[in-house]
Amino acid sequence: MQWIVDGVYLVVAALFVIGLKAMSSPTKARRGIAWAGIGMILATLATFLVPGMKNLTLIVVALVIGGGVAWWAGRVVKMTDMPQMVAIYNGMGGGAAALIAAVEFARGEVHGPVVATLAVLGSLIGSVAFSGSVIAFLKLQGIMSKAVRLPAQNLVNIVLALLTLGLGAWIVIASVGAGSANPWLLVLFFLLSLALGAVVTMPIGGADMPVVISLLNAFTGLAVGFEGYVLGNPTLIIAGIVVGASGTLLTQLMAKAMNRPILGVLFTPISGEAQVGGAALEGSMKELTATDAAALMRYSERVVVIPGYGMAVAGAQHKVWEMARQLEELGVEVSFAIHPVAGRMPGHMNVLLAEAGVPYEKIFDLEEINAEFPQVDVALVIGANDVVNPVARTDKLSPIYGMPIMDADRARNCIVIKRGRGAGYSGIENALFYADNTSMLYGSAQQAVADIVGQLKDLH
Ligand code: NAP
Repeated sequence: MQWIVDGVYLVVAALFVIGLKAMSSPTKARRGIAWAGIGMILATLATFLVPGMKNLTLIVVALVIGGGVAWWAGRVVKMTDMPQMVAIYNGMGGGAAALIAAVEFARGEVHGPVVATLAVLGSLIGSVAFSGSVIAFLKLQGIMSKAVRLPAQNLVNIVLALLTLGLGAWIVIASVGAGSANPWLLVLFFLLSLALGAVVTMPIGGADMPVVISLLNAFTGLAVGFEGYVLGNPTLIIAGIVVGASGTLLTQLMAKAMNRPILGVLFTPISGEAQVGGAALEGSMKELTATDAAALMRYSERVVVIPGYGMAVAGAQHKVWEMARQLEELGVEVSFAIHPVAGRMPGHMNVLLAEAGVPYEKIFDLEEINAEFPQVDVALVIGANDVVNPVARTDKLSPIYGMPIMDADRARNCIVIKRGRGAGYSGIENALFYADNTSMLYGSAQQAVADIVGQLKDLH
């Protein structure tokens, strides 16, 4: 029977790799998720065939409960709440990895220094990922205040980390040969690890959250891989390595997109509370009507749409695409410019625009399109704020200083659609809204774009 299990695991490993490869392209991403999902199902089914596997009824009950909750959540959770869902599910993975280590210690099955070290490291990293993800979930869900900073925060982090590592080393030494350690030591170790994850994540808020979620995701992968080694289960090792490696790469890409070193995210977080940069903003916000906006774009040669979180909240993507098609019928060239951290999760805008039917060849990344803004007649910013804030380029005192932004301010004209004077995710005032070439179209994105669509009909 074991050879069947091993054969299935090999197929599963191939499916994970094929799935991940497909996910690197927006045209094949859905297919990639399906391939990886089939791999997960096969891996779970193969577990039932592992010789000597016990507690099959309990496993089925757990699968039904877990699968049922995930099925329900996947259907009801709104697209804008997806980051919270990713955070909490990711935390579950880390928590499960930590629990595997706890069970193996309780059974006295952790033999040898290598297995003991990996079990301890896996449970430390898994517990940190679990409690950190729970805090990320509470913050994104608005249940917890955005940033809670302890006095001497960095010192507390370091002392807690050293204590946890020291205790972990003690457990490794105690369990070599015996296969386990004093249960109270283990309980203390898990409590300290959970506290570490919570304390490190609590002060992080605002614009740093995507990087943290991705980092915790990479941690979960690492923890799962380590515990796979402890259990001698190759699929867990492969799945853990794939998640750990891709999570690490995603973390690096996002940190680069926001120009925030990863250590800076952990130790000098942006608080997420309303703040302004060093320089006071000059000028005033000028309002325009949907009629003016439609006319300005109708008589343009080139319009670039920059979507942001507000377009997602308003669910305006279908109207936006309708507007773009109208403009194209009128001879205007329309493209879409997507900032890597626009919205609330990586790829958020790409998914929404793809759902609305916008062809991929009309969608451009920051690096592909940014140099072209001086030749753009209208940059149409729809519910985006931080990702078009020029203070990131100019104001050294601003917390988002250095973050690459879409150069909407360099277009000949800029129209910003938003409901009012609300700040962006990081709570910072936006200099773009005060620029001479910028006009504000106030209103919810869906209605404002619908009004433009109505006006464009009259301009045919
Ligand atoms: P943003 O900075 O959060 O700004 C969104 C803007 O949309 C707000 O200023 C808001 O202004 C407006 N808005 C809200 N509801 C609206 C509606 N119904 N219709 C029209 N406008 C509406 O968005 P962003 O420019 O996309 O930047 C993303 C931010 O989130 C960055 O700071 C990024 O670091 C952070 N973040 C990103 C991720 C990720 O992975 N993508 C994850 C977490 C956090 P009004 O209230 O005035 O309407």
